[in-house]
Amino acid sequence: MSIVQEIRCSNCGAPIKFNPGEILATCQYCGFTVVIETGEPFTFEHSMILNQFDPTQVEKSIHDWMRSGFVKPGDLARASKILEKNLMYLPFWIVHVNVISEYKGVFERLTPPMTKEGKIEKEYNWLVLARKATQFPTREYDIPLEGKIPYDFRRIEGFAKVLNSEIGKEDAADIAKQEIETLHQFLAKEFVDKIIEMKNEFSISDTLYLHAPIWFIKYEYRRKIYQLLIDGATGTAIKGDIPSTGFGIL
Ligand SMILES: [Zn+2]
Repeated sequence: MSIVQEIRCSNCGAPIKFNPGEILATCQYCGFTVVIETGEPFTFEHSMILNQFDPTQVEKSIHDWMRSGFVKPGDLARASKILEKNLMYLPFWIVHVNVISEYKGVFERLTPPMTKEGKIEKEYNWLVLARKATQFPTREYDIPLEGKIPYDFRRIEGFAKVLNSEIGKEDAADIAKQEIETLHQFLAKEFVDKIIEMKNEFSISDTLYLHAPIWFIKYEYRRKIYQLLIDGATGTAIKGDIPSTGFGIL
């Protein structure tokens, strides 16, 4: 167990609890966000996305997911028991970045192999989870940014949990750059078989701090426990464990 520590909110004076390793903490009484190390207010934009479901309504989303697709057991919705439905507001950094990747590589699909050059230019709102130990499929989460509003603690449900940031803005930018570089290497491999060199130019125009509502669902099916993540803004499944149908044909 980690030891919870406290600082005073510089806006309302209430105690703000935080865990070791957290960098930004939000006051649960007034919604003010402070930088833990310095106690200074966080002066950048802090947004949130609203959750649209209560614990009863989210069951419909869970059952819709269970009934959809071909690979799930036919009785999944009927035979499953929902064990946990926890709403968590996860902290994210959204790095708005323009990237130009220039690459040189060898195209080996022809004989003789030839050297080719190319350029990939893209613009992203790259999502970085601001937590270190939490497993979350950021690339599968199509975050509904059009619904973002300024962070408002009064819109956070009493039963929800809000996680603080463990990753600073600069580190988030570095993570985004590394992940984009990996993606662009993958994209370049469509045009060349071997990359000789790649130069990436990143222009970050802004970085946004945002809390988004995610339902962490645990369900039991035939005495095994599975996890499912639901986007609290749209009710769509982000990622879920699917029980195998148990027929050993494959
Ligand atoms: Zn406060």
